[in-house]
Amino acid sequence: MLDGDFFRRWLTTAAATVDREADRLTELDSAIGDADHGANLRRGFAAVTEALAPRDADHPGAVLVLAGRQLISKVGGASGPLYGTLLRTTGKALGDGAEVSREELAQALRAGVDAVTKLGGATPGDKTMVDALVPAVDALSTSFDAARDAAEQGAEATIPLQARKGRASYLGERSIGHQDPGATSSALLFAALAETAE
Ligand code: ADP
Ligand code: MG
Ligand code: MG
Repeated sequence: MLDGDFFRRWLTTAAATVDREADRLTELDSAIGDADHGANLRRGFAAVTEALAPRDADHPGAVLVLAGRQLISKVGGASGPLYGTLLRTTGKALGDGAEVSREELAQALRAGVDAVTKLGGATPGDKTMVDALVPAVDALSTSFDAARDAAEQGAEATIPLQARKGRASYLGERSIGHQDPGATSSALLFAALAETAE
């Protein structure tokens, strides 16, 4: 079972991973966007780490809702409201139990991803974070490692796609041949989740 401490460790691990990979995320965003994805997420996850430090939120759902709120308020780009909505909706779906199972997390994340697609209007194949999130959440019913691998494959599969949502869609066919930055950061979040579960 996964408790509040597990979720804190997931998010602080994600913050460290985002910090380490920020230059790569920004490089991907400079090819098909405005070169700020690494900085956006670094700022957002630094705020998440800070907000979790006082240990006020101690249940899984509360930890995710608090983190989501930070991302929504601290990140200016498209990814802030989208990732914020993902975590906040997932947290709300988890309710106020002290422990949840991996399967319960998978179910709650499914509600979170639905909220992301509702907010952003992207479906799989549009070359966005949704291309990594959907297969990852499906694979989470199997294992944390399967979710990590599915997210990574989903991110890589965005390379030949033409973007239909977000800034990259302004490029039309020129968006083809580049990996989507948001799908790449989604893969990092699931890599951090698998690392936390080890
Ligand atoms: P911005 O594009 O505002 O500068 P970021 O660079 O932080 O924001 O995030 C860009 C990423 O956000 C994209 O790579 C894509 O994965 C994701 N994204 C953008 N718009 C959407 C959308 N409508 N639905 C889902 N994801 C989106
Ligand atoms: Mg950007
Ligand atoms: Mg921007």
